[in-house]
Amino acid sequence: MTVLTKTNSWNWDGEQVVVDGGKDALWGVVEQANGVWAILVDTPGGVLTAGQFAILADIMADGGAAVKFTRRQLPILLVPKDKVTGALEKLTAGGLRVASVHGSVRNIVACPGKGLCVHARQETLGLAKEINEAVYGAKLPWDFKIGLSGCPRNCSAALCQCIGLIGEPRGKFTIALGGKESGITPIHGVVLPVKVPREKVVPVIVRLLGLYSTLAAEFTATGELPEHPRLYHVIAKAGVERFIAVVQEEVEA
Ligand code: SF4
Repeated sequence: MTVLTKTNSWNWDGEQVVVDGGKDALWGVVEQANGVWAILVDTPGGVLTAGQFAILADIMADGGAAVKFTRRQLPILLVPKDKVTGALEKLTAGGLRVASVHGSVRNIVACPGKGLCVHARQETLGLAKEINEAVYGAKLPWDFKIGLSGCPRNCSAALCQCIGLIGEPRGKFTIALGGKESGITPIHGVVLPVKVPREKVVPVIVRLLGLYSTLAAEFTATGELPEHPRLYHVIAKAGVERFIAVVQEEVEA
């Protein structure tokens, strides 16, 4: 079984994000076209406490340009380069982390779910946080998107994520793999013929990321897939049955 490789050891050297002395593209501290720097804040499900919001406000009050909230429910802090160090220190002191930008799991999207939405069948925001703890910093073949909806109304467009989960009755989730939301040819993921119990969601996702990484490495090494394949590329090559098998195995474990 493939074990996920994770990292959260990196530095901002005043010029760029570095890991082991070299430039690193995984972490969301990125220069923008206009010269302003963007800091992506890890906020699974798009949730911030009052205290965390105050930290973002403090960073903005100290020369920040603006906050941009993205499609993936995370705030991007736009700050001048000479304010990046201070902003990162304030985020860390407040228990906030930088989100990934490339080669890992992007900020996890979730609808309000049970406890907030009257239609919900399953809780989503706590689950998004749990998944994030398991996959934060995972090194993957390329960007990976996970989305959760608390019921089949599917407000989080879970079918257009690499892994999408949709709440069903009796503590289970429908799972879909290989969706894609961006570009001019969006793809609906394949809905698997197996439901995932709430307590199995995290181990199932970890197994799926491992299989994706293993197969992507194999296909890339043989030249059958170009560098940085997304999950839908790998599923198209390997067949979805391999992925169904590991989900089934983990659900029955
Ligand atoms: S997907 Fe369902 S639970 Fe989530 S916000 Fe929409 S209606 Fe509510």
